[in-house]
Amino acid sequence: MGPPGSGKGTISTRIVKDFAIKHLSSGDILRSQILNKTAAGVSAKKYIDEGTLVPDKVMVDLIIGELKPLQQNWLLDGFPRTVPQAEALYNQEPVDVVMNLNIPDEIIINRIKGRWTHAPSGRIYHTEFNPPKVPGVDDVTGEPLIQRDDDKEETVQRRLAAYWKLTKPVLDFYRDHGILMEFKGKYSNEIWPHVHKFMSTKIEPKQYTQYKGFS
Ligand code: AMP
Repeated sequence: MGPPGSGKGTISTRIVKDFAIKHLSSGDILRSQILNKTAAGVSAKKYIDEGTLVPDKVMVDLIIGELKPLQQNWLLDGFPRTVPQAEALYNQEPVDVVMNLNIPDEIIINRIKGRWTHAPSGRIYHTEFNPPKVPGVDDVTGEPLIQRDDDKEETVQRRLAAYWKLTKPVLDFYRDHGILMEFKGKYSNEIWPHVHKFMSTKIEPKQYTQYKGFS
């Protein structure tokens, strides 16, 4: 779990690189269902297009259906998003641990609001971390940079408020069940060593497994 812009994608990618665990993203699963025009895909499409949540029943059936046949560890991303989803998952495919990336809202807002885009090429700059040579201007073409609506402070603030409203009860659910693990920090690089260390107490890192195989 983690708010938009918390580095959930980065941390997930690093986890699957270092540990034998299958990464399942609910958004990706839904998009592939839509592409394949499955019954779940057809019923989910209108909600996704509207930017609202897909009904719990559709989501639960879909995700449980993906998890059931798996013979390996899994890392769920994007699910559960509501308490009924968390309850259904807990009852049908119990989770061992829920990792929450606890990044202060101000850090996320500062990181995103510094992004400037060269619309024709998609090149992205950041006023602090990767500034253009001339402020407000694309390095390659000299054309003006724009700030995408998604990267504006008001938009990020609105998205974060919606996230907390929806997600706090899910975090409380897992905290009450004693399986919520919080990782606090400002950047993925700061959080990652702690996630890696914690994951290593649950699954052997890939390298170690390979090393043992040769000994
Ligand atoms: P994402 O890629 O995680 O942002 O998901 C894209 C869209 O899929 C969301 O805006 C929702 O409409 C839908 N979605 C993904 N996961 C869930 C979920 N757990 N519950 C309900 N809808 C979801």
